[in-house]
Amino acid sequence: MYLKSIEMQGFKSFADKTQVVFDKGVTAVVGPNGSGKSNITESLRWALGESSAKSLRGGKMPDVIFAGTEVRKALNYAEVAVTLDNSDGFIAGAGETIRVERHIYRNGDNDYLIDGEYRIDGKKVRLRDIHDLFMDTGLGRDSFSIISQGRVEAIFNAKPEERRAIFEEAAGVLKYKTRKKETESKLNQTPMSS
Ligand code: ATP
Repeated sequence: MYLKSIEMQGFKSFADKTQVVFDKGVTAVVGPNGSGKSNITESLRWALGESSAKSLRGGKMPDVIFAGTEVRKALNYAEVAVTLDNSDGFIAGAGETIRVERHIYRNGDNDYLIDGEYRIDGKKVRLRDIHDLFMDTGLGRDSFSIISQGRVEAIFNAKPEERRAIFEEAAGVLKYKTRKKETESKLNQTPMSS
């Protein structure tokens, strides 16, 4: 499986629709400071379900929407679509390509409540479905596939339990632990009959 493309519109500094296409092998993005290189990796993390606005260098989620410049008005909407090539069947049960989208609208006073809408191959889904799709693939929210500036240091300084979660994702056991926890919590909520 590999990343084929990212399309951004209204996301951070990418006010206009912008597509970045990746080939197999290494792709380097170069540009002056502040030109938007990190915004590209953040768009990928955001589309794959990043739920911490802080880790996207914002205060609340709608801060990812283009905030305007001296010469251009702010926008009220952002979307990112990520296309993955799955022709090797790496994600079992998914098609040859997988398209994951996230959309977000500003909503004034309620901005802090907004997380956005997700789609997989055009179909509206919950964030949970995105997590399920990528859990243990190495592309999950907390995986090592995307290492942003400062992350290496953060991993070294992480508590042992936090580091354990990273190893568990890499080893592919996180999915089963999460399901076990969910099942236990459902069992605990089930009334016992005598
Ligand atoms: P460096 O090489 O210094 O790490 P970079 O190329 O990675 O820089 P980014 O950090 O991706 O650059 O981009 C920062 C730019 O994105 C800044 O100019 C900032 O004003 C702009 N930016 C961030 N969020 C928004 C937003 N919501 N609306 C408009 N512009 C934004």
